[in-house]
Amino acid sequence: MTEHTPPSMSPESSRKVHVVSLGCPKNRVDTELMMGRLLQGGFSPTPDPEAADVLLVNTCAFIESSKTESVDAILDLADVKSRNPDARLVVAGCLSQRHAPDLRESMPEVDYFIGTGEYQRLGDLLELPAVKAAQSPAAMGERKGRPQFIADHLHPRYVPPASFSSYLKIAEGCSQGCAFCIIPKLRGVQRSRTIDDLIREARALVETGVVELNLVAQDLTHYGEDLGDPDMLAKLIRELGKVDGLPWVRLMYAYPHNFSDNLIDAIAETDNCLPYVDMPLQHASDNVLKRMNRRTSRLEMETLLDKMRARIDGLVMRTTLLVGHPGETEADFNDLVDFVSAQRFHRVGCFAFSQEEGTASARMPDQLPMMVKRFRSNRIMEIQRGISADHMQAMVGQRLEVLVEGLSDETDLLLQGRYSGQAPEIDGVIYINDAPDNIGRGQLRQVEITEAHDYDLVGHVVG
Ligand code: SF4
Repeated sequence: MTEHTPPSMSPESSRKVHVVSLGCPKNRVDTELMMGRLLQGGFSPTPDPEAADVLLVNTCAFIESSKTESVDAILDLADVKSRNPDARLVVAGCLSQRHAPDLRESMPEVDYFIGTGEYQRLGDLLELPAVKAAQSPAAMGERKGRPQFIADHLHPRYVPPASFSSYLKIAEGCSQGCAFCIIPKLRGVQRSRTIDDLIREARALVETGVVELNLVAQDLTHYGEDLGDPDMLAKLIRELGKVDGLPWVRLMYAYPHNFSDNLIDAIAETDNCLPYVDMPLQHASDNVLKRMNRRTSRLEMETLLDKMRARIDGLVMRTTLLVGHPGETEADFNDLVDFVSAQRFHRVGCFAFSQEEGTASARMPDQLPMMVKRFRSNRIMEIQRGISADHMQAMVGQRLEVLVEGLSDETDLLLQGRYSGQAPEIDGVIYINDAPDNIGRGQLRQVEITEAHDYDLVGHVVG
């Protein structure tokens, strides 16, 4: 989980907002939409919570550890508010959607709880006279039904200055119903945006300097199905291929079922669609996939992966796996080990099952001890480290198009960037040494790879 505090901007407005954004890129987009509305209303962002009139935490509640992180962030800002009682503390996002009534009791310092389908109302709420606002459902921590809202390109969005990479949320909610997942309860059923709406937003982001657009949703593959067109993602990719000044489009959070031949062709044939697909598969044992209520099988996944690799040149696959699901036997786990060893994914994230109240899996018998879950997720990541190191080593001597991100997080002596096979924030990076003076953030430069590590590469700029 990462924390994002937008950089300060010139103090046009006396009213300041400090925001902490937790969780996934989809939540980040909601943060930028809330900030867009507040800036339009005359606020300006500040990195200093002590200077803020509004303290906003956009929370995550996917699993236990993310809930803890969210509660800690709220308590930190509640402490700030204790020194500035006029400041208003707002809690938004999945934790608010899931637990607002309980939090209302236990956290009197919080002024408003905003649900995942109500962030568009924050601006109006803050304009209300305090007495009126204090009687609002947000102040009471009331949640009415499942979220239904999704913003379109007309909704103001705050894009941090000098952003060269951004997320485009093409749909909200999910209609899959995986047994272990609480997201449909927090985000509602799937609701897709139209292609025209998304192209308008993509163009607006490109005008702000964005060169990499990462498409996100809870379930990217079924984008458009709720609008009656199950093959809309393929059409969107081809339309994004016509947007000038957008060299990189990346697909995140794809679902394996219904991943059509048209979609594979669109990825393979559209110049700015990167040969990179993030597709959480969760498991490979048919017994466990059934218990997880995943609409796929090992054979279907293997057939799809073979087809994708055969059709998309240089395809880099990322996946997410979940081990320790109730009822997962030693044999099931060994199936997964075989699958990971055979498929040799470039990138893998592996989570231990978290018994999330309100999910079907949480009520299942045959829950596994945490020790077993941890052992299994470590085992998968151990195997993957070796596979990743092999993939990295094979890149030494290659020349890659690299998106320069700026000074490396490790040292000011190096710059860092990513090639098409590395997604922002979750994959490794390329450390660039001996960078020429005329290099800058957001540039695409040719880099020759001279060294490889388990997840990262090292190289120098050529040409
Ligand atoms: S597809 Fe993803 S978001 Fe939807 S229920 Fe399954 S795991 Fe959750």
